Amino acid sequence: MQIGDLIRRAGRQFGSAPALVDGDRTVSFVEFDELTDRLGNALVARGLEPGDRVAVLMPNGIDGVVVYYALAKAGLVRVPLNVRETAAEHAYKIDDSQSRALVYAGAPPAQVEIMIGAEELPVMIEQASADACDVRRDPEAPLRLAYTGGTTGRPKAVVLTTRSELAEVSNFLVDLLPNLRPDSVMLHAAPITHGSGAFFLPHLVKGATNVVLPKFSPLAFLAAAQEYGATTTFMVPTMIAMLLEEPVTATADLALERLCYGGAPIATSVLSRGIELLGPVFAQLYGQAEAPLAITCLQPWEHTPERLTAAGKPYTFVEVEVRDADGNALGAGEVGEVLTRGPHTMSRYWRRPEATAETLEPDGWLHTGDIGHWDAHGYLHLLDRRHDVIISGGFNVYPREVEEVLLRHPAVVEAAVVGLPDEKWGERVTAAVVIRAAVEPDEILGFCAERLAGFKRPRALEIWPAIPTSPVGKSLRREVRDRMVAASS
Ligand code: AMP
Repeated sequence: MQIGDLIRRAGRQFGSAPALVDGDRTVSFVEFDELTDRLGNALVARGLEPGDRVAVLMPNGIDGVVVYYALAKAGLVRVPLNVRETAAEHAYKIDDSQSRALVYAGAPPAQVEIMIGAEELPVMIEQASADACDVRRDPEAPLRLAYTGGTTGRPKAVVLTTRSELAEVSNFLVDLLPNLRPDSVMLHAAPITHGSGAFFLPHLVKGATNVVLPKFSPLAFLAAAQEYGATTTFMVPTMIAMLLEEPVTATADLALERLCYGGAPIATSVLSRGIELLGPVFAQLYGQAEAPLAITCLQPWEHTPERLTAAGKPYTFVEVEVRDADGNALGAGEVGEVLTRGPHTMSRYWRRPEATAETLEPDGWLHTGDIGHWDAHGYLHLLDRRHDVIISGGFNVYPREVEEVLLRHPAVVEAAVVGLPDEKWGERVTAAVVIRAAVEPDEILGFCAERLAGFKRPRALEIWPAIPTSPVGKSLRREVRDRMVAASS
C-alpha cells in the first residue's frame, strides 16, 4: 500500500465532506484527492523523478498539505522546513538533503535547480492533468526526511519510509485515537511540519476533518476549537502552559476528546492544572523523529495523580526496552537507556552511516538516547536525555527533576537547569527561570533546598526574560548553558 492509496480511497468514501479547513477555505475529500493528483502530475512534468528530494518551506495551511501529499503520490521525497527557522538553517538543510526542488512561500533561502514559488501552485494545479498520479515506490524507499531539532550538534535528517509512515498511522489508530469518526475534527495548532502532521492521515482515513491554524496563540486556538468543535489536538508542553495562563481557557466551551501532548517533558504542575481546567482529555505521547511519535503513550484514564510523571506504556505494536550499558534488558526500578523497535522506526540517518550505526542495531533496535526506568506496573518513566544528564561530584543529576521542583514554586513559569563546568564538582547545577511575580533568587533556591538532595540543588539561579526554545517550542538547555558559560568567561 502507498500513501496515495489512502487519499484516493478517502476521496471515494467521503466525497464532498470537508477534509481540510483553513479559515474560509474548505477542501473536500474528492477535491483533496484531485488537487494532490494534479500537483503530483505537474511536479513530474517539471522533470522531477522518483526519489528526488523536494524541500518545502510553507506556513501551516492547505497549500502546504497539498504539496506534501502530491509529493508522496509523485514518488518524491519531502523535506519539510520549519518557517520559524532562519534562512541559514533552511539553506543548510536544502544543501544537506541535496534537494532538487524547493517549494517556498516568501523569500527563497537558497537557489536549487527547480524553484517553485507558492503563488505558482494554483496555476500549476489548474494546468496539470487530472489523471491519477500514482508513482509506486518500494515501501523501504525514503518518503520524507525529518531533520531532528538539532539540540545537539548539526541537524541530521532521519529517513522515514512508506513502511514507517503507514506504521505510524496504524499505531495512532490502534492506541491513541481509536474512536475517530467522520464527525471528529483535528485542530492543527502546532506546525504540521512536526508533531501535528502525524495526526493528518489518521483523521483523513477515517473521514474526519483536519482544520489548520496558521499560527498558534491561546486565543486563536480557543476560538478555532469552539468554532469547529475540535475533538483532537496536539501541543508541545510549552503551548499547554501558555493555554493555561490564558484566563479565557477556564470558561471556554470545548468539545475536545483528546488533547495529545508530547515532544518534550511536561511539568506535573502544568498537567494537573490542565486536567483540572479541561478535564480528562490529556493523552501523552513519547516518541522522537527517529521513531515518530510512537514509543509509549499515556491514555487519558491513566492520568491519575501518582502517574503524572510517567510517559506511558508501549504502543501495542511497538517494542520497548530499558537496557544497561552492556545491553542487558532491565526490570522495574532500574535506570538505563530506552530502546525501541518496530516498523515505525527510521531506516537510517541521511548520509550519516556512523550515526546510523551508533543508533540503530542490526536487529532493528533503536537507541533513543533517553534515560528512564519501568515502574512496577509497566509504565515507562523518563528521566532525561543522556546528553543532558549533569554529573556533579560523581552523582547523576537529571535536570528535569530539578526543573519540576522549580516549576512548583508559585512565581516560576519556566525553568531550565544545566551543568556549568566546576573545578571542584565537575559540573555545578545552575538554573535559569522565567517568573510571573517578583521574587528573589534566594527565595527560590531556599524552596529547592527544602525539596531536593544537596547534590541536586541549583548552586546559582538567574532570572531570565525567556528561556530559548527550538522552533517547535522545546527549551534549549544547550543554549542556556552556552549563554551562561559565555557570560562568565
Ligand atoms: P525530537 O526527535 O526532536 O522529536 O525529540 C525527541 C525527544 O524529545 C525524545 O527523545 C525525548 O527526549 C523528548 N520527548 C518526546 N516526547 C516526550 C515525552 N512525552 N516526555 C518526555 N520527553 C519527551
